Amino acid sequence: MNEKYLSVPPDYHTHTALCKHAEGRPAEYAAAACRKGLREFAVTDHGPTPHLYDSEHRMDMDQFDLYRNWFEEARAECECKVLFGVEADYFEGCQPFMSKWLSACPFDLVLGSVHYLGSSDMDDPDDLSLWESSDVNAVWRRYFELVGDLADTRLYDVVTHLDLPKRGGDRPDEKDLPDLVLPALDRIARAGMAIEINTSGLRHPVGEMYPSPQILEWACERGIDITFGSDAHTPENVASGFDGAVKLAREAGYTHSLRIRGRRRRRIPLPVTS
Ligand SMILES: [Zn+2]
Ligand SMILES: [Zn+2]
Repeated sequence: MNEKYLSVPPDYHTHTALCKHAEGRPAEYAAAACRKGLREFAVTDHGPTPHLYDSEHRMDMDQFDLYRNWFEEARAECECKVLFGVEADYFEGCQPFMSKWLSACPFDLVLGSVHYLGSSDMDDPDDLSLWESSDVNAVWRRYFELVGDLADTRLYDVVTHLDLPKRGGDRPDEKDLPDLVLPALDRIARAGMAIEINTSGLRHPVGEMYPSPQILEWACERGIDITFGSDAHTPENVASGFDGAVKLAREAGYTHSLRIRGRRRRRIPLPVTS
């Protein structure tokens, strides 16, 4: 086993102040990552879109060069390996732009996210429009259909925060879960995509990582690989909850996670934790 991966897995999901709802520059996240014993982490801020789609939660197109400079600054200053990534949304009509833009940028990894159903933001605790107009199962069904559509594009490497609709605690009955979730997992498996264990759910009302233990077990049965992401919006949250995330992965049946560089993947053993 490679000594590098004995302690903390890479954190493949962090943000910067450019997305307008996070704090800090990559160099500050990198310093926090080093302090916490990480050997590798990725800068994956919310990518720009030309459609003014959700422009209040992402960098503008003309800030992308600055984003790239901030990454270079972190890479130059930090001892740990710093990767250049992006959290790119999937939404209806995004494909012509995403397929060109993602392949033109020199990313190490591309996270794929669904944050919106129509105009409702599932990641905004103050936006209750979705839950006022639809029942829980209907929201979960629409959301996971979009996740399946995301996978079918083959444009992204990792699906983020897979069961995001539970953020505020709204979940379907357990008996309905397979019907709502498994078709999307099958499409992710067919696309050869990974999913992440995202620890930000521990900081959300639901108080649980994304995805749930049951969904992670189903993913493992389907041979879907995993990465780890804190979804840190402040430097101190880099790698937060990762001990528990590694434990969750093991309990679901995983022995490895992915290392991704230059959009190429390699399996690495899960770190040994106490
Ligand atoms: Zn997200
Ligand atoms: Zn994020």
